[in-house]
Amino acid sequence: MLSIENLTKVYPTGDRALENVSLEIGGRETTAIIGPSGAGKSTLIRCINRLTEPTSGRIVLDGTDVTSLNKKELRKARLDMGMVFQEYNLVERLTVMENVLSGRLGEVNTWQAFRRQFPPDAVEHAYDTLETVGLAGFEDKRADELSGGQRQRVGIARAVVQEPKILLADEPTSSLDPETSRAVMELLTDIAEAENIPVLINIHEVDLAVEYADRIVGITDGEVSFEGEPDELVEEA
Ligand code: ADP
Ligand code: ADP
Repeated sequence: MLSIENLTKVYPTGDRALENVSLEIGGRETTAIIGPSGAGKSTLIRCINRLTEPTSGRIVLDGTDVTSLNKKELRKARLDMGMVFQEYNLVERLTVMENVLSGRLGEVNTWQAFRRQFPPDAVEHAYDTLETVGLAGFEDKRADELSGGQRQRVGIARAVVQEPKILLADEPTSSLDPETSRAVMELLTDIAEAENIPVLINIHEVDLAVEYADRIVGITDGEVSFEGEPDELVEEA
């Protein structure tokens, strides 16, 4: 369970990106954060994993107040948050398996080093996860041989092998064509159920959010402007 409590972010430039945002995200639910460009969606995710420091408010993940952690504690807490990025953030010259296993380390390394570091069950889990995301047989391909959709599947597998308590996806479909975007959204919602974790997705395509998410949170000018089920949003529009 992730609790966001009265989160406010004012950048040093004076930009008020988030204003007193409170949200609870739990279960195996997929929550889509929608809102126009500049609304504060990306700032919200970066406050949760503390890539940016909140100005005030608290972020509590399964009882741990993430906002109060020191650097070392934060490194550990970040392993509880699987991150999926718009541009995938893979290491292009490494293989699919190397990229996926790097999720468990929170850093990248080479396959040789990996094999020594990982117990067989960890490697087994990575193979299983690649199968789940539809990339069985792709283990030894280099990331730069893959299509965008395949790269994003690797990014998702890398987040899943961390065995996170929550999955955070920042515009995971923005670099993909509509058909591939739908497949990625479907995969993310499947993973929420299969892994029994909440998934939080920033997305600017409202139609994809309505089609795939269990719950929608609208953010406008840094404030929560809508919170409800997809059909409530459609009725309101
Ligand atoms: P979104 O993800 O919804 O497009 P962002 O969270 O990126 O919105 O941005 C929210 C607001 O915060 C915008 O006004 C943006 O210009 C501002 N902002 C984002 N990042 C920074 C930053 N590093 N420094 C200053 N202002 C920022
Ligand atoms: P996105 O819309 O995908 O979030 P942006 O183009 O808004 O991307 O931001 C890209 C980078 O620029 C981010 O690292 C963000 O923190 C920074 N940034 C965004 N807006 C501002 C701003 N007003 N002042 C300074 N940095 C900003």
